[in-house]
Amino acid sequence: MNAPLRRAGIDLDAYRSNLDLVRGWMEPVEVMAIMKADAYGHGLEPIALTAVDAGIRWIGVLTVPAALRLRSIGVGEDVHLFTWQHDPALDFRDAVDSAIDLGVSTLDELRRIVEAVDQRPARVHLGVDSGLHRDGATTADWPALVEAARDAQRAGRIEVVAAYTHLAESSDEDDASAVAHFDAMVEQAEDLGLDIRTEHVAASLAGLERTEFRKDMVRMGANLFGIPGADGVSAADLGLRPVMTLTASVAKTKRVPVGTGVSYDYTYRTDRETTLALVPVGYADGVPRLAQGRVEVAVNGTRYPIVGRVAMDQFLVDVGDDDVRVGDTVTLFGTGEHGEMTVLEWGRALDTIGEEVVCRIGPRVPRVYEGHSGEGRVGAHLRGERW
Ligand SMILES: *Cc1c(COP(=O)(O)O)cnc(C)c1O
Repeated sequence: MNAPLRRAGIDLDAYRSNLDLVRGWMEPVEVMAIMKADAYGHGLEPIALTAVDAGIRWIGVLTVPAALRLRSIGVGEDVHLFTWQHDPALDFRDAVDSAIDLGVSTLDELRRIVEAVDQRPARVHLGVDSGLHRDGATTADWPALVEAARDAQRAGRIEVVAAYTHLAESSDEDDASAVAHFDAMVEQAEDLGLDIRTEHVAASLAGLERTEFRKDMVRMGANLFGIPGADGVSAADLGLRPVMTLTASVAKTKRVPVGTGVSYDYTYRTDRETTLALVPVGYADGVPRLAQGRVEVAVNGTRYPIVGRVAMDQFLVDVGDDDVRVGDTVTLFGTGEHGEMTVLEWGRALDTIGEEVVCRIGPRVPRVYEGHSGEGRVGAHLRGERW
């Protein structure tokens, strides 16, 4: 048996299929594929190249360095790369030269971008705070930002590509009033002489459920990884396929007598003679201590609870008298097709969301790319070739 201790299988065919499906639903609205946080823990480059092979025209990556990484592996300027969280010390020159799209919500950011312009105008999306209170200009700051952007555009220093906002997804009413606020800000910009050509507002949840919020483009992250956020809806209901499958190999098995204390603090004691199987994945790999008693893992199609404390590098399952052997595959979460929980179910069991679960899978877990990867740019990239 030569199974790796732990691995995150990334099914690029599933990502591609989700992307095709979601783009079909949104048609004719454009889809920006969101890949912040290393593509939600799946690995930025292979996911981005899969999307590029599928003909995506917009990718959102949060930061300028991540966007430049994509340019450096050959993602050309026919693919717009949107960034919206900027280091206050960032020099925007490379971003402007590489035609990176920049979300801007303060005068200071705009000033620094304008200063970085050399040959070509910077591509700017003006951010509106419609109630989330993260980035985005407040009502008070918006007119000055718009006027400065208008003047910089007239001077040929920037191109205002779009206005955007991000919703709190708190309730339908809250989101409706946030979008009404955004619409009013866009109208104000038009009144001040700034033409807003493109608007983007909705992420996965609102993009699916609120057709009136789709505007010109939706920014989709979670749906594309097969982790829809809607309450009570599974990925399978929607036809979306989970992209990440987290597996490990049973590292050891031990026959122990009744009353055996298990793992740190002996929070679990065996109630009979039984077999304990050691799974070499711990909280350093993204299985939180909170998972004890809340999630179950699948071995040979049967589910077993995590027993005792989750340690940094491992946890134990009680497999009773079942025939579980060293090297057997343990599936922590995946598509659900082989008896395992899905990442959506992990999210619910852990009082969080699927996005947090996949983003927390640690760097010690190798991402192993499956499907689609033999072809096109993705395959070439994974084989270390230029294309
Ligand atoms: C994360 C993020 C998205 C994507 O959100 P999902 O719910 O994963 O689709 C879109 N826009 C912004 C600004 C984000 O931060």
